[in-house]
Amino acid sequence: MANLLIDSLKVRTYDAIVIGSGMSGGWAAKELTEHGLRTLVLERDGTSNT
Ligand SMILES: Cc1cc2nc3c(=O)[nH]c(=O)nc-3n(C[C@H](O)[C@H](O)[C@H](O)COP(=O)(O)OP(=O)(O)OC[C@H]3O[C@@H](n4cnc5c(N)ncnc54)[C@H](O)[C@@H]3O)c2cc1C
Repeated sequence: MANLLIDSLKVRTYDAIVIGSGMSGGWAAKELTEHGLRTLVLERDGTSNT
């Protein structure tokens, strides 16, 4: 049987995790990604406040 999770650890590994996609978090994520960091943004709301 094929192991479909073979790349799971790689896919779920980030250099930075930003909590909240408001003004601060959104800008931080932009800066981080522009510097080449693999960044995950977690937002509790369906839409951003900014
Ligand atoms: C009514 C009002 C009007 C304003 N008008 C102006 C204006 O005209 N000009 C101005 O410069 N500023 C204004 N501000 C201030 C401005 O909105 C804030 O200074 C700015 O949004 C702060 O940014 P922030 O990223 O720190 O926080 P926020 O914008 O509040 O972003 C925080 C984000 O984190 C998310 N979050 C929180 N907890 C969690 C969690 N546990 N897990 C995941 N996500 C989470 C929230 O859902 C939110 O999206 C106003 C504020 C209000 C309330």
